[in-house]
Amino acid sequence: MTQPRFTGKVAFVTGAGSGIGRATAVAFAAEGARLAVLDVDAAANEETARLVAEHGGEVLALTCDVTSSRDVAAAVAGTVERFGRLDAAFNNAGIEQPAAPLTDIEEDAWARLIAVDLTSAFLCMKHQIPAMLANGGGSIVNTSSGAGVVGIAGQAAYVAAKHGLIGLTKSAALDYAAQGIRVNAVCPGIIETPMMNRFSGGTDEGRARVIGQEPVGRMGRPEEIASAVLWLSSDLGAFATGMAMVVDGGQTVGL
Ligand code: NAD
Repeated sequence: MTQPRFTGKVAFVTGAGSGIGRATAVAFAAEGARLAVLDVDAAANEETARLVAEHGGEVLALTCDVTSSRDVAAAVAGTVERFGRLDAAFNNAGIEQPAAPLTDIEEDAWARLIAVDLTSAFLCMKHQIPAMLANGGGSIVNTSSGAGVVGIAGQAAYVAAKHGLIGLTKSAALDYAAQGIRVNAVCPGIIETPMMNRFSGGTDEGRARVIGQEPVGRMGRPEEIASAVLWLSSDLGAFATGMAMVVDGGQTVGL
């Protein structure tokens, strides 16, 4: 690595207690960022904060339910109060959908999934953007999915949320492009995380089934998504806004 890309910068990572969020929090810290890590799971989030601190990162751990506007507002305010600014946000918290055809999805399960996987990014951006404007701009990355660019049988709610996230990202990018805020989405493929372990059932057969969707013949590592998020968030990605960066080992290329 040459120069750390985030020295002097402040980052904000949701869903930081596990998987992709944890790897990205550690990656931001390893490149010099000070950061707030957020998760609804306080113990998991504290463990991420410990890992970040191990990488020399100055870190604020905040327990936050991203479906709560009040929680999110307090977290953004707490970040700015502690570090004085906000430069990079990674809105990544999410939940999976148990596989089911559309008519088997209960209305409250639909509403919960849309709240966690889509409305949360709206709430985060609503509070992050004013904080970024106050210091001349910033970068936001929202976690969509391969499910944001193709339909998947048995995944109507998750696919709707992840497609919606890309539309939200594009429109937010246009709203704030002239004011120095870039908004992008990252669309991971099959990534080896606790969520994917639950989704596959964690068995050899389940793992083989999901790996079978990957032309590269393996799952991705959370760090491989983190590196895309850091590129989008850094000055190297300065001309990228409104894009949905698919990082999926070719999973959706032939579909
Ligand atoms: P994970 O389950 O390992 O981690 C998700 C984290 O989000 C957990 O720590 C959880 O506590 C937190 N979270 C859930 N609900 C929350 C809430 N209401 N408020 C705050 N935090 C909350 O999952 P992951 O695999 O690391 O997934 C991260 C993101 O990437 C999700 O948005 C997911 O949809 C997306 N994604 C994952 C994959 C994959 O293959 N793992 C693929 C595509 C997209």
